[in-house]
Amino acid sequence: MNKIEHLGVAVKSLEVSNLLFEKLLGSSHYKIEEVASEGVRTSFFKSGPNKIELLEATTEDSIIAKFIEKKGEGIHHVAFAVTDIVAEMARLKDEGFTLLNETPKRGADNKLVAFVHPKSANGILIELCQEVME
Ligand code: ZN
Repeated sequence: MNKIEHLGVAVKSLEVSNLLFEKLLGSSHYKIEEVASEGVRTSFFKSGPNKIELLEATTEDSIIAKFIEKKGEGIHHVAFAVTDIVAEMARLKDEGFTLLNETPKRGADNKLVAFVHPKSANGILIELCQEVME
Protein backbone atom coordinates (compact mmCIF):
# COMPACT_ATOMS: atom_id res chain seq x y z
CA MET A 1 0.00 0.00 0.00
CA ASN A 2 1.58 3.27 -1.11
CA LYS A 3 -0.53 5.91 0.62
CA ILE A 4 -4.11 6.82 1.42
CA GLU A 5 -5.43 7.82 -2.00
CA HIS A 6 -8.75 9.25 -0.83
CA LEU A 7 -11.51 9.05 1.74
CA GLY A 8 -14.95 8.08 0.45
CA VAL A 9 -17.91 9.83 2.08
CA ALA A 10 -21.50 8.66 1.56
CA VAL A 11 -23.89 11.58 1.12
CA LYS A 12 -27.60 11.87 0.44
CA SER A 13 -27.25 14.71 -2.06
CA LEU A 14 -24.19 15.59 -4.07
CA GLU A 15 -25.55 19.09 -4.69
CA VAL A 16 -25.99 19.81 -0.99
CA SER A 17 -22.73 18.20 0.07
CA ASN A 18 -20.69 19.77 -2.73
CA LEU A 19 -21.63 23.16 -1.28
CA LEU A 20 -20.83 21.99 2.25
CA PHE A 21 -17.41 20.63 1.30
CA GLU A 22 -16.66 23.74 -0.78
CA LYS A 23 -17.19 25.80 2.36
CA LEU A 24 -15.27 23.34 4.52
CA LEU A 25 -12.23 23.03 2.26
CA GLY A 26 -12.28 26.48 0.70
CA SER A 27 -12.09 25.00 -2.80
CA SER A 28 -14.44 23.60 -5.41
CA HIS A 29 -14.80 19.99 -6.47
CA TYR A 30 -12.72 19.33 -9.55
CA LYS A 31 -14.73 16.55 -11.10
CA ILE A 32 -18.08 14.81 -11.06
CA GLU A 33 -18.30 11.31 -12.40
CA GLU A 34 -21.03 8.71 -12.55
CA VAL A 35 -20.18 5.03 -12.15
CA ALA A 36 -23.35 3.52 -13.57
CA SER A 37 -22.31 -0.07 -12.81
CA GLU A 38 -22.16 0.79 -9.09
CA GLY A 39 -25.24 3.04 -9.02
CA VAL A 40 -23.25 6.02 -7.75
CA ARG A 41 -22.40 9.55 -8.72
CA THR A 42 -19.17 10.89 -7.27
CA SER A 43 -17.48 14.22 -6.87
CA PHE A 44 -13.85 14.78 -5.97
CA PHE A 45 -12.19 17.45 -3.84
CA LYS A 46 -8.55 18.14 -3.15
CA SER A 47 -7.18 19.24 0.18
CA GLY A 48 -3.47 19.74 -0.28
CA PRO A 49 -2.12 16.37 -1.42
CA ASN A 50 -5.24 14.55 -0.20
CA LYS A 51 -8.49 13.72 -1.94
CA ILE A 52 -12.05 13.30 -0.76
CA GLU A 53 -14.65 11.46 -2.81
CA LEU A 54 -18.31 12.17 -2.14
CA LEU A 55 -20.67 9.38 -3.19
CA GLU A 56 -24.37 9.72 -3.89
CA ALA A 57 -26.70 6.84 -4.79
CA THR A 58 -28.32 6.97 -8.22
CA THR A 59 -30.46 3.87 -7.70
CA GLU A 60 -32.45 2.60 -4.73
CA ASP A 61 -30.44 -0.61 -4.47
CA SER A 62 -27.08 1.16 -4.79
CA ILE A 63 -24.50 0.21 -2.15
CA ILE A 64 -24.51 3.86 -1.08
CA ALA A 65 -28.29 3.92 -0.61
CA LYS A 66 -28.02 0.80 1.56
CA PHE A 67 -25.12 2.25 3.55
CA ILE A 68 -26.99 5.48 4.31
CA GLU A 69 -30.12 3.55 5.25
CA LYS A 70 -28.13 1.54 7.80
CA LYS A 71 -25.60 4.04 9.11
CA GLY A 72 -26.51 7.47 7.83
CA GLU A 73 -24.18 9.80 5.97
CA GLY A 74 -20.49 9.62 6.77
CA ILE A 75 -17.16 8.02 5.98
CA HIS A 76 -17.83 5.06 3.73
CA HIS A 77 -14.37 3.79 2.80
CA VAL A 78 -10.65 4.44 2.99
CA ALA A 79 -8.86 4.01 -0.32
CA PHE A 80 -5.20 3.08 -0.63
CA ALA A 81 -3.13 3.56 -3.76
CA VAL A 82 -1.34 0.43 -4.89
CA THR A 83 1.11 -0.19 -7.71
CA ASP A 84 0.00 -3.72 -8.57
CA ILE A 85 -3.59 -4.32 -7.53
CA VAL A 86 -3.61 -8.01 -8.49
CA ALA A 87 -0.51 -8.72 -6.41
CA GLU A 88 -1.89 -6.69 -3.49
CA MET A 89 -5.21 -8.58 -3.62
CA ALA A 90 -3.34 -11.90 -3.53
CA ARG A 91 -1.19 -10.71 -0.62
CA LEU A 92 -4.23 -9.62 1.41
CA LYS A 93 -6.06 -12.86 0.65
CA ASP A 94 -3.01 -14.80 1.89
CA GLU A 95 -3.06 -12.67 5.04
CA GLY A 96 -6.63 -13.78 5.70
CA PHE A 97 -8.58 -10.73 4.57
CA THR A 98 -11.92 -11.19 2.85
CA LEU A 99 -12.01 -9.55 -0.57
CA LEU A 100 -15.29 -8.37 -2.05
CA ASN A 101 -14.03 -8.77 -5.62
CA GLU A 102 -12.35 -11.71 -7.31
CA THR A 103 -10.82 -9.45 -9.93
CA PRO A 104 -10.24 -5.68 -10.06
CA LYS A 105 -13.02 -3.61 -11.59
CA ARG A 106 -13.22 -0.19 -13.14
CA GLY A 107 -13.94 2.54 -10.58
CA ALA A 108 -14.23 6.32 -10.69
CA ASP A 109 -11.29 8.65 -11.35
CA ASN A 110 -9.59 6.38 -13.88
CA LYS A 111 -8.80 3.63 -11.41
CA LEU A 112 -8.89 -0.12 -11.16
CA VAL A 113 -10.41 -0.90 -7.79
CA ALA A 114 -11.10 -3.79 -5.42
CA PHE A 115 -12.56 -3.83 -1.92
CA VAL A 116 -11.74 -5.57 1.36
CA HIS A 117 -14.74 -6.53 3.49
CA PRO A 118 -15.12 -4.30 6.57
CA LYS A 119 -15.69 -7.40 8.73
CA SER A 120 -12.10 -8.43 8.13
CA ALA A 121 -10.67 -4.91 8.63
CA ASN A 122 -11.92 -3.56 11.96
CA GLY A 123 -15.14 -2.28 10.46
CA ILE A 124 -13.48 -0.25 7.73
CA LEU A 125 -14.31 -0.83 4.09
CA ILE A 126 -10.92 -0.71 2.37
CA GLU A 127 -10.58 0.18 -1.29
CA LEU A 128 -7.44 -0.66 -3.24
CA CYS A 129 -6.93 1.50 -6.28
CA GLN A 130 -4.43 1.44 -9.06
CA GLU A 131 -4.09 4.25 -11.57
CA VAL A 132 -4.98 3.19 -15.09
CA MET A 133 -2.50 4.29 -17.73
CA GLU A 134 -4.13 5.17 -21.03
ZN1 ZN B 1 -13.29 5.48 -3.49
